[in-house]
Amino acid sequence: MFLARDERGNLVNSLEDDLVKQDYTCPACGSMLQLRRGQSKRAHFAHQSLKNCQLFHENESPEHLGNKQALFYWAKKDDEVSLEFPISQCQQIADILVRGNLALEIQCSPIRQSILAERSRGYRSHGFKVLWLLGEKLWLKERLTQLQRGFLYFSNNMGFYVWELDLKNELLRLKYLLHQDLRGKLHYKTKEFPYGKGNLLEILRIPYQKQRLQCFTVEQDRYICSYIRQQLYYQNSYWMKKQSQAYLVGKNLLNLNFQDWYPQVSPIENGNFYQVDKDISDYYLHFKSYYEKNPQLKHQKLFPPAFYQQYFLKNVVK
Ligand SMILES: [Zn+2]
Repeated sequence: MFLARDERGNLVNSLEDDLVKQDYTCPACGSMLQLRRGQSKRAHFAHQSLKNCQLFHENESPEHLGNKQALFYWAKKDDEVSLEFPISQCQQIADILVRGNLALEIQCSPIRQSILAERSRGYRSHGFKVLWLLGEKLWLKERLTQLQRGFLYFSNNMGFYVWELDLKNELLRLKYLLHQDLRGKLHYKTKEFPYGKGNLLEILRIPYQKQRLQCFTVEQDRYICSYIRQQLYYQNSYWMKKQSQAYLVGKNLLNLNFQDWYPQVSPIENGNFYQVDKDISDYYLHFKSYYEKNPQLKHQKLFPPAFYQQYFLKNVVK
């Protein structure tokens, strides 16, 4: 943390104020803080004991502190920002609060899904927007974890997306048009924004800005039938469930051929999205009907939700 109270009760900011040695206390719980600084460290405060603190749950890692500092200066260039802003209504502290209502939460370590859900709900129910920005341990890898699913956002122009913070390379990264193939592998596009360049708030709004719709092409996996056969042979629970759903409609996955699996790449399956509060079931319907009407075998072109929606409206209205 960068904020503390000094002995006279004034709030000090270790990023901006010259600090002398004295007793500092936590603005939230009043317990003693240690001022940590050194050549290799940015000056910051840490609780000696977190036992009695309702707002700070852990002493932050260098990655967390570094990102918080970078984003604070970046946002401050163009907007009114508060650092470590306590939101007493929901007993939370926003790493950075922009324009009084957008909370930027830097998350560098895994947290329990229930806590993520609760904190996200807490912000929204008190009229705040929250953007979770993910540190290295939480970056998307080949597959989506249950926890990462909870950090996904959705926009009509960019589909499912997530924000990542790359402190080493000083980049804010947007991964968007997130899709998943039948093996569970992720497919998406990426945009990168160097720290400090441009207006941060405008960058964070990109998914909702008017824009030329983007797309990308993915190959279809020629060996998908043998992959699924193998998964069923080893009784993989996901595929066993799919097979029993197929049985209910008189089908058997083992009898399907390559063409039947088109399109192999789909939107992230619905469910447990903590950052998506609108009903997106139409997206899945439009997506499905688009490929039913436009079969292709080797390649699949992926578009944002707005594209499928427009296509569907045009073809239904006729
Ligand atoms: Zn405290």
